[in-house]
Amino acid sequence: MNIDFSKSAHGLIPAIIQDSETKTVLMLGYMNEEAYQKTLETKKVTFYSRSKSRLWTKGEESGNFLNLVDIKNDCDKDTLLIKVNPVGPTCHTGSDNCWQESNNQEYGFISKLEKTIKERKENATSDKSYVASLFEKGINKIAQKVGEEAIEVVIEAKDNNDDLFLSESADLLFHYLILLQAKGFQLDDVVSVLKERQK
Ligand code: AMP
Ligand code: ZN
Ligand code: ZN
Ligand code: ZN
Repeated sequence: MNIDFSKSAHGLIPAIIQDSETKTVLMLGYMNEEAYQKTLETKKVTFYSRSKSRLWTKGEESGNFLNLVDIKNDCDKDTLLIKVNPVGPTCHTGSDNCWQESNNQEYGFISKLEKTIKERKENATSDKSYVASLFEKGINKIAQKVGEEAIEVVIEAKDNNDDLFLSESADLLFHYLILLQAKGFQLDDVVSVLKERQK
């Protein structure tokens, strides 16, 4: 790719980092040619850190690497748009993006779980994964599981064993997320309906 590193005095160009799945803009960093080459080689986004004055592989301390998915040059070849698969929160504050913007990942852990479920739907083999085996059995089976777990929640709600109630609630939520995914939806789609009702 023909990138123009010569426009800025220090040979640095901005790189906009976007989550390839949620499309959230995660952060902005600067790259020189070396950082760019290292990013291509390692498939982990590496910047030139202006404060550290050295190459900086995002995640080098925290483990929250940005796994490279795609790099695009802009119209005049001086700004990169980099799509990534983030390993963890991108911002050092623990936020998933550097602007603390609410976005598709506002469900935090649930969003991560949904992502895993989606991956199982798309490419895991059923001999390794319970979730993949459910997808293989199809929507009716998954819907039936949701029904069973719902009944278990009802039963435990009547008792006063909190542990069992929470455990069955977790089962229900988990299988419900799988059913949503099987139908091609995510929790956010349901939340949108709820938000619409509040208007
Ligand atoms: P990390 O690259 O995630 O291991 O973080 C190493 C150091 O880089 C942190 O202690 C911060 O000083 C800095 N840092 C990490 N993430 C960001 C970010 N998104 N924007 C700016 N600085 C960051
Ligand atoms: Zn440009
Ligand atoms: Zn940040
Ligand atoms: Zn259960």
